[in-house]
Amino acid sequence: MSNAFVPPYLLGLRAKERPADPLVSCVVPAYNESANIVPMLQTLHQLLNDAGYRHELVVVDDGSRDDTVEQVLTHAAELPVTLIQLSRNFGKEIALTAGVDHVQGDVAVLIDSDFQHPPEMVPVFLQEWRKGYDMVYSVRSSREDEPLTKRLFTRAFYRLANSGSRHKMPADTQDFRVLDRCVVEALRQMPERNRFMKGLYHWVGFTQRPMPTQTRERRAGQSSFNYRRLLDLGITGLTAFSNMPLRIWTVIGCLISLCSIAYAAWELTHTLLFGNPVSGWPTLAVAVSFLGGVQLLSIGILGEYVGRIFDEVKQRPTYLVSRISGRGASDAGNAV
Ligand code: UDP
Ligand code: MG
Repeated sequence: MSNAFVPPYLLGLRAKERPADPLVSCVVPAYNESANIVPMLQTLHQLLNDAGYRHELVVVDDGSRDDTVEQVLTHAAELPVTLIQLSRNFGKEIALTAGVDHVQGDVAVLIDSDFQHPPEMVPVFLQEWRKGYDMVYSVRSSREDEPLTKRLFTRAFYRLANSGSRHKMPADTQDFRVLDRCVVEALRQMPERNRFMKGLYHWVGFTQRPMPTQTRERRAGQSSFNYRRLLDLGITGLTAFSNMPLRIWTVIGCLISLCSIAYAAWELTHTLLFGNPVSGWPTLAVAVSFLGGVQLLSIGILGEYVGRIFDEVKQRPTYLVSRISGRGASDAGNAV
């Protein structure tokens, strides 16, 4: 939690800048969340009303194939909802980006629609924002609920992503967070298409406040993150925020070259001293296949970076919106 310390004088100044009656924008990404989305919107609406916040609920439908959109349009019509329908499934990182691009509030809340992020923490996070923190984010109190392979994968990811970097990305953070308008504006300036939001939140800086949060089981439906998607996100995160994978292969290449020089010297001495009656076929075969493997792997890693450069230079829009509908922001205190 490298960002926890903030000079008190700075917090005092920021706290004074907070508007007396802020508009809170909740960004709720939804992909096949038919059973969860309406209860989540109702819960957020109730909680924010009780805390006296004017609010808007920005639902980003990420190309759902179930009736998530119909559920929102029919059962959440009374709520201050803005529904942004993306033209297809772009993935959670892009759905969050679309939400952040459309919020109007003084402060944005990013929260999953499956109740894994406890909505009752939203007013607590907002209280911290009022104290002057620009970004209040949830940190998992434990990862015990996750399978061992996922925990190992995550730990390896953060090790690699942070190695050699002076400014460490904190591990175990979540997308559940509150962002001041200044952070929202900063995120909007990030042009990259290969988006790894946790890296971007960290990169923008500002005053940050980690809050340990107990995550829950998903209320209904299934997680859409399988290991392939997780690997994809991991590679995006690594290539977007670290040159370490490239550097590792430079180091390995140097080591292999040094070993080969030493080996050649040994072979030469041995042949000069004792002669070489047997031709060195097995040694040759092993050396060629090993080096072939190393070269392919390093070319593959280069390819990952080149592929991402290709994505960026095409300059395609990050996402496409097919429709925006809804009522917009609420006034405080008109609970349904
Ligand atoms: N989500 C999304 N697009 C996707 C996958 C997921 O908008 O392609 C949303 C999903 O509806 C949920 C949040 O992102 O609100 C987290 O997704 P999920 O629960 O599947 O991931 P997990 O919590 O298992 O990491
Ligand atoms: Mg989930």
